Amino acid sequence: MLKGSCACGEVRYEISGVLVGPITYCHCWRCRKHSGSSFGTTAGVRASEFRIVAGQERLSSWKSSPGIDRFFAGCCGSPIYKRNAETPEMLGFRLGTLDTDPKEVGTLHFQAGSKAPWFAITDSLTCESGGPPFGTRD
Ligand SMILES: [Zn+2]
Ligand SMILES: [Zn+2]
Repeated sequence: MLKGSCACGEVRYEISGVLVGPITYCHCWRCRKHSGSSFGTTAGVRASEFRIVAGQERLSSWKSSPGIDRFFAGCCGSPIYKRNAETPEMLGFRLGTLDTDPKEVGTLHFQAGSKAPWFAITDSLTCESGGPPFGTRD
């Protein structure tokens, strides 16, 4: 069981299953802006295994592209999960909101073509170089 929460603690969630797919460092502009950080650290979970256990009424969402809703804690702004209308059985979520150790490490840089110029990739992980240049949105 993995547990997570927003920054102020009002929204809490639990994941009863395992992470699906690799832990990914996503350098796309959406992940950067939505996290307020240099990149987003994300993984997939099955929607049936992801449960909001407190603060459901605090969740707000926005559409980052057609069919993609990003849910965040309205109380403090923490990003919580993403749902794609084409694959609603899978959710993406931000590892930064975890309170327990998933016991895996990241293995992939995604959309490194969009990475922030102040961030240097110095590891030897697989690097997918797609994405529009920094400062542009597609
Ligand atoms: Zn909060
Ligand atoms: Zn991204």
